[in-house]
Amino acid sequence: MSFKTLLPGSPSPNGQPTTLGVMGGGQLGRMFVQAAQAMGFATVVLDPDPASPAGQISHHHIRAAYDDEPGLAQLIQRSDAITTEFENVPAAALATLAAQRTVAPSASCVAVAQDRVKEKAHFEQCAPISGVAPAPHAVITTDASLAAVPDDLLPGILKTARMGYDGKGQLRVASRAQLAEAWDQLDKVPCVLEKMLTLRAECSVIVARGADGQVVSFPVQKNTHHEGILAITEVFDGAIEAGLAQRAQASTVAIANHLRYVGVLCVEYFVVERADGTTDLVVNEMAPRPHNSGHYTQNACDISQFEAQVRALAGLPLPVPRQHSPTIMINLLGDLWFEPNAVRAQASKTPVSPPWAAVLALPGTHLHLYGKLGARPGRKMGHLNVTGASVTRVRETTAQALALLGLPALGV
Ligand code: ADP
Ligand code: MG
Repeated sequence: MSFKTLLPGSPSPNGQPTTLGVMGGGQLGRMFVQAAQAMGFATVVLDPDPASPAGQISHHHIRAAYDDEPGLAQLIQRSDAITTEFENVPAAALATLAAQRTVAPSASCVAVAQDRVKEKAHFEQCAPISGVAPAPHAVITTDASLAAVPDDLLPGILKTARMGYDGKGQLRVASRAQLAEAWDQLDKVPCVLEKMLTLRAECSVIVARGADGQVVSFPVQKNTHHEGILAITEVFDGAIEAGLAQRAQASTVAIANHLRYVGVLCVEYFVVERADGTTDLVVNEMAPRPHNSGHYTQNACDISQFEAQVRALAGLPLPVPRQHSPTIMINLLGDLWFEPNAVRAQASKTPVSPPWAAVLALPGTHLHLYGKLGARPGRKMGHLNVTGASVTRVRETTAQALALLGLPALGV
């Protein structure tokens, strides 16, 4: 379907309010719904979970599997345009939707982001334009391709081509024997072996691209992971060296343009150390949607990544986002409801709410919880954005919030 501008608040041809649809009802869908509703759009979410974070707050919630034909038909009937909040939505479902409605990002763009093999090939095609290449790697799909892996990729990380996230579906290997064993352990599904790089830092860039090809970039965010999951994101001048940050932004724009991408795209990068001690940039992976590392935009920028997603989907203008405050985002995982066990939950397994009142007493703290009922270790429950007049102030407040939450200082 071709793109048309959808004006919020005006009725669509079938008489219902202009409605934006989203495949998936997790926290990213919820924050998309919130941004869409703030602008006056009605929303519809397709997600099988009756308690899904986005389903809870959307005008309509279709409780169906992502490949359920009656569910998809209902989504088409209710929506004027449709987006997705996760990359593993079945490609056939997006194709069904796209036959009758504007869908952004397109099924073909999502297919690239779903599969590390296609993703790496795309990054390599873009490298001459973007100036940033992926890590040295090899694709492993057969015993012969396993045997043909060059020695200089070891030690490395074996990653499943599909369905990996938050460090899942990855094994570190130091020798050929370990590599063979790891591939066995991953049931010999198609994989990518990447050379293990020495990382100085990790960063990511979010861009929004409209159907007219206009693309705008958010500032570069510096990310710190803990046990494979994003822990904090820091965004202010100097968090990432200026030259590298500019290259990361230009590379992300080139990657989006080359795909003729429409919507919000996040690309992750590694800052690596070369043998001579200088730094370089390596492109890691991309997400065809807003990203955990972009949540700071809600409170530190004049347009959030979710509003940008709404605007791109609705064919509305995309002015260049401006960051108006230095910021740090703290990810809030379910562990916080249990730890330190002895103090908060008296060593019981009953979840206890973290000390939100004390945290919110700190100036410049913005709490976002996703409405998930059951806290579980590792489950993403929310995030806390910290803003302030200066980097020093933001760091101080973040350190206080981390201490109140019993979290490690993580270099803040
Ligand atoms: P996921 O889909 O789980 O986010 P990533 O490819 O981003 O998968 O890997 C997760 C984390 O593992 C990265 O953020 C980084 O810290 C580390 N990592 C991944 N690939 C490499 C590599 N080639 N060298 C060093 N560290 C890596
Ligand atoms: Mg990643």
